[in-house]
Amino acid sequence: MNNMTTILEIDGSQGEGGGQILRTSLALSMHTGTPFVLKDIRAKRAKPGLMRQHLTCVNAAAQISGAQVEGTALNSQHLQFTPGAIKPGDYEFNIGSAGSCTLVLQTIWPALLTVAGTTRVELRGGTHNHMAPPFHFLDLSYAPLVRQLGVSAQLTLKRHGFYPQGGGVIHAEFGGAADTLTPFDLTERGELREQYAECLAAAIPRSIARRELQALQQRLGWQDEQLLVGSARQDEGPGNALIAVLRHEHVCEVFTRIGAKGVTSEQVADGVASEVRKYKAAGTTAVGPHLADQWALPLAIAVDQTGKAASYTCSGITPHARTNFEVIEKFLPVQFSTEPVEGGFKVNVRAIAA
Ligand code: ATP
Repeated sequence: MNNMTTILEIDGSQGEGGGQILRTSLALSMHTGTPFVLKDIRAKRAKPGLMRQHLTCVNAAAQISGAQVEGTALNSQHLQFTPGAIKPGDYEFNIGSAGSCTLVLQTIWPALLTVAGTTRVELRGGTHNHMAPPFHFLDLSYAPLVRQLGVSAQLTLKRHGFYPQGGGVIHAEFGGAADTLTPFDLTERGELREQYAECLAAAIPRSIARRELQALQQRLGWQDEQLLVGSARQDEGPGNALIAVLRHEHVCEVFTRIGAKGVTSEQVADGVASEVRKYKAAGTTAVGPHLADQWALPLAIAVDQTGKAASYTCSGITPHARTNFEVIEKFLPVQFSTEPVEGGFKVNVRAIAA
């Protein structure tokens, strides 16, 4: 970095004040080559600062982009990140414990969209964590939309990993498009093609999986053939997740609850059923609340690269999503606007002329 390089200052306490501000900043710093300083990291969380899982995101981003980093201690509330050029290739990241592999993917994947060449990443840690995208969500919901932007992406779940044991393994292979991504509008979910539930029961009795599926069946009125006991093995985990998949013509949505000690099968099923009902009640809007915050980043990169505006509709916009829009606008010359539509909101992303 020469002395003239502007360092972007990002306020980690803005809006939702959580870890997403860090992950989006890392992704867009790598993508744009813009160094940043992040202050008051995760200021609105009970335990502010960098947790182990956030440090893995920083280290992964630094390794792939040859960045210089200051402030990478556990609990640090101040970070300076100066990226170099992104190097496609083979990488391995061991999150340790059961830290979320998918939040690391959420950090590095958008930055690889516009880099020519193939990158293979092996991640070890948690694959189905509370408060993070489960593997099934990234694979069935997020990855197909990213591929529609014009890049290849293949995810393989080699081993399930749950809190607190971890031990999960995900293999990801990404191809970037150096020249042109193709942003697109996603304003309708389209007709329902398939809906089913899958229950993962690793190193716990299969009867728990069957009970959760039956409880979900009672709440949603689904048929026996829509209920699957997933492929989690008895030598993995221990852990449990109940996943509902709704595949529509234009988008596939995935709703998940992670089971835990002291939480009944009925409570797990209640959580999933309530998310499915809310999504169904949102009429024709395309995506649910989690995809609404995650889709913003890859779409904004594609809009910036091509200058072509794009939009999507969603059942709701969380403070998490609004904060993400604000952080994206700091790094990229794009503007987000939202408008109410029947069943939710429409999110518009347009490039701002230089
Ligand atoms: P931190 O705890 O590090 O401050 P945060 O506040 O950014 O993190 P969350 O709000 O818990 O973290 O969300 C992290 C990301 O995981 C978000 O992009 C959110 O949409 C996604 N996410 C959380 N739960 C799910 C789920 N069940 N399905 C899909 N995505 C999810």
